[in-house]
Parts: sequence; structure tokens; C-alpha cells
Amino acid sequence: MAETRTPTAASLFFGPDAPDESDLYKCVHCGFCLQVCPTYLETGLEAESPRGRIALMKAVNEGRIGITPTVVRHWDLCIQCRACEVACPSGVPYGRLIEATMQQVETRRKQGLVKRLLSELSLKHLLPYQGRLSFLFSGLRLYQKSGVQAAIRKSGVLRFFSPKLAELESSLPVLPANVFEPRGQVIPAVGEKRARVALLSGCVMPLVNGPQMNAVVRVLARNGCEVVVTRDQVCCGALNTHVGDLSTARGLAKKNIDAFNASAVDAVIVASAGCGARMKEYGHLLRDDPDYRDVAEAFSRNVKDIHEFLVDLPFEPPKAGLDYRVTYQDSCHLSNGQGVREQPRQILRSIPGVELVELSNAAICCGAGGSYTLTERDLSMRVLDTKMKAVRETGADVIATANPGCLLQLQYGAQKDGISIKVRYVTDLLDEAYGKEG
Ligand code: SF4
Ligand code: SF4
Repeated sequence: MAETRTPTAASLFFGPDAPDESDLYKCVHCGFCLQVCPTYLETGLEAESPRGRIALMKAVNEGRIGITPTVVRHWDLCIQCRACEVACPSGVPYGRLIEATMQQVETRRKQGLVKRLLSELSLKHLLPYQGRLSFLFSGLRLYQKSGVQAAIRKSGVLRFFSPKLAELESSLPVLPANVFEPRGQVIPAVGEKRARVALLSGCVMPLVNGPQMNAVVRVLARNGCEVVVTRDQVCCGALNTHVGDLSTARGLAKKNIDAFNASAVDAVIVASAGCGARMKEYGHLLRDDPDYRDVAEAFSRNVKDIHEFLVDLPFEPPKAGLDYRVTYQDSCHLSNGQGVREQPRQILRSIPGVELVELSNAAICCGAGGSYTLTERDLSMRVLDTKMKAVRETGADVIATANPGCLLQLQYGAQKDGISIKVRYVTDLLDEAYGKEG
């Protein structure tokens, strides 16, 4: 197949970020991907399958159909979980295709004023700025702590105005007082130093999962790592890429590369699967930037998911045990985006007393998908309901996972189902076991 990134003359795709034809025409319509696609499994519709979405991309590329609202709707409903990419025997890089397609959609999308302002505000003026995010979350914390949240929920006022808003509000997690800030701190290794690593703090994770970030630092230090939390790091840009805002994503990528490269570390550790997948693809994102192309490739090679890093190190199995029956939900951006499937399970199995029970649909998405759970609530909840049915069948008392989005989604699923099951990070469980060693 000819190596080309130039769309055909009739194509309605244009520019350097258009879907690559050599990727697009790899699809032979075999359908092997259908049974792993959560949106196809829920709807049974060809247009909500990877094959159907690729067929629409091809039709646009050949000028047979336009980029109409109906066509865009099918692409919008893709969770971008990339399970289809793993299942595909022809090597169709679906993640790259949908990313490029969404960029094309983004340049043409006509949205209402409110929607457009909200999207601009959150993607370009909020997520990239940690100070602004912290300010927003301080307000949310006050809303929860002051009793206003409880009063609003009791009154049912939100449900009266907008049932959708009321449901979203009810899925707001309890925010911890303990946040994790990148302040340029260097946490020393415990015992003999085996590596010097940098840790991605992230955008929302340090504000929603501060205690879990501290657990990640303790686990790394306990295994002989000096941990640098560089001050100048920013959001990884995953959410911007998800909706086709590649220019903001590229700006964030460059800032992170400069910030982490200044730390001279053996590896850049990421404890959030979505961020790790994004940062491992900085090389592709900046492929047309002559100043950053090579440095981005080298940087991406040095990015390690926390679980793969710990297993490669290798980590020390805890001596104390936990008496939990645990099931593990693969985070799509870890299993499909980074090929890290066995390492989290290996860590869980290393904890004495932990019984690991496999989920029947562990490899299928939980419906979180970055901002998908907010923007495509109905389908996201249907996917979550199917996931929670499988969770109940395991009889587990803990769901372990590796991504903040999955953690929040599964916590909401448990709350909605009224089942008493804890949702924890794999590293949290490892940290708890280490803590019991005395
Ligand atoms: S994406 Fe791959 S698995 Fe799916 S229909 Fe195309 S070639 Fe087959
Ligand atoms: S990325 Fe996930 S939701 Fe989208 S087409 Fe592939 S399997 Fe389906």
C-alpha cells in the first residue's frame, strides 16, 4: 500500500492532520472487531461499530457523503477505547484514524453558543492551567463541605430544572481535602536508590485522587526510586486530543517534554492510563514539528506506566497480606493503548491473601472514555450497566483499576446499583499491603 497522507482530490478531509489513506484502506470489513466494541454490543447497529465508522470515513474521503451531523453523530458516539484496534487482524490503527477524523470534525463543528463556550472554556482555558483547576475544585470542595450539596440534593431542585444535570451532580465524587501538587519536590528513595524517576501529576487526578497519588509516591520510594515531581509540568492533553483539539494538545505536549527533560530521570512514570497512552504518542502528535519530532519520539520511549515500570524494576512483593476478593477492570488506555494487561494482575497476585477473580468482560470498556461519560451520558450508562452486571457475578469486594476515569465511573456504577464494593487503584492495594508490614 502506498505511503500517503494526502487525501484524494474528491476527499472532504483536508490538511496535514487528515486521516491517513494508508491507515484507512487497511480495513477489509471482516468484522472481527464487532464483538469487542461496546457501542456495537449495546446498540447492535453497524454504524456504531468500528467497521461502520471506518466505512463512513472512507465515504467522506472519497467524496461520496458529506461530514453531516448524522455522520458526525456516529463518530461522536465512539468511546475511543481502541478495543477494535487490538482485535483487528489487518492492523488498522483505529485510534489514529478516529483522532484524525475528530480533528476534521472539530474544524467544522457548528455548536450552539453555550456548548461552544463551555467546550472552549474547559479545553483551552481550564484544563491546561493547574491554578485555575485548583480554584474550581476548591469551590466544589466548599460546596460539598458546607452542606449546600446535601441541601440541594434533598430539595430535588436540580431534578426539577434538569434531570440530566441532577444525575451528573449525583455522580460527583467526594473530593478529598488532601490534594497532590507538583511543587518541584524530590521524594527520596527508601533504602538503596535503584532509579530516579519523574512522576506525572496530571490535571484532575491530583485534585480528585490526591491520597492515591501519595500512595503511588510511597510505592515508588519503597521500591528504591527517588521521585521528582517537576513543577512546570502540565495536563497531558488527552482530553483535547479526544475531541480533535490537536493544537492545544501539541502545545501541552511541548511544555511537558521541556519540563520533564529538564529533570534528567531514568523514566517518566504515569499513574493514569489515559495520560500514559497520550504521552507515549507524543512522537506521533509532533511528527510534523521539525524542532520537536525527534525529541518527542525519545521522550515517549521513556514514558512508563506505573505497573509496567514496577514489574520491570522489579518491585518487591509485599510481606504482609490483604484479605480481599478482587476483580480487575482493564483500563482501555492501558490494555488497548499501551498493551499493559498482565502487569497489574501480576502486582495484585503478589499480594498475599488477595484472591483475583477475572471479570467476564474485563477487556470491554466501562463507558468512562475521558469526557464521554459527561457528553454521551445515555450510552455511557448502558455500557456501565453491562459492566456492573459482570462485576456482581464475581462476588468481589474490591474492583481494582488503573485510570481515574474508570475509577469514578465504576464508583458511580456501584453507587447506582446499591452494592457495597470498593473501587481502588492497583497501586493503592500494594501500598496498603506495604503499610501493614510494620
Ligand atoms: S477494523 Fe479490522 S477487524 Fe474491523 S472490520 Fe476492519 S479489518 Fe476487520
Ligand atoms: S474505539 Fe471502542 S467504541 Fe470506538 S469503534 Fe473501537 S471498539 Fe468501538
